[in-house]
Amino acid sequence: MKLTHHVHAKTLKAICGNCHLLQKICICNLITPVATRNRVSLVITKGEFAKMTNTGRLAHLLLQNSQIKVFGLPEKPLIKEDFLQNGYRNLLLYPGSQNRFENFLQIEEPINLIVPDGNWGQAKKMVQKIAQLTPVTCVSLPLGPISEYMLRTHPDPHRICTIEAIYRSLCILENNPELEQLLKVFRIMRDRLVAMRAKPLSLR
Ligand SMILES: [Zn+2]
Repeated sequence: MKLTHHVHAKTLKAICGNCHLLQKICICNLITPVATRNRVSLVITKGEFAKMTNTGRLAHLLLQNSQIKVFGLPEKPLIKEDFLQNGYRNLLLYPGSQNRFENFLQIEEPINLIVPDGNWGQAKKMVQKIAQLTPVTCVSLPLGPISEYMLRTHPDPHRICTIEAIYRSLCILENNPELEQLLKVFRIMRDRLVAMRAKPLSLR
């Protein structure tokens, strides 16, 4: 009897290896990767990558033209090939930069948007490391609607989560109705995480 109980508890806590959510709220069957002209290259901290609440990883799963590199692994240090892409104009998304996306709408090449994903301090560190490896132009998003992400609160209401930033960036760069998929799956993931938090006892 005890063994059955143990197995049951373990199943409930099992994590999906793809979306990293608990298997009972796994969203993999909702994911159909969207094709885009512009590329997204995420550089993500190891800690952030492992978090269930991370949305950068979800953006990568939802975008065909994307890649993700875990930052801070001593055995696999960041190299510029991890985030630069030939045939694309490489731009680094960095809040606070004076450059706006609108300045790059006229260029012919598609854009490879490099997105650091981590807390403020970590993102700063990643940006410094990227700049050490190669000179890269920074861009920032114009101020938009407040975040729909209720799982993490931030004193600045204009701070948005990674998938929202990627969605808004791509919407400026290309007219692609398929991009709505990003918000659709993100909202489902958020709602499932919120519901799970509301009744934590069911997880024990
Ligand atoms: Zn999954």
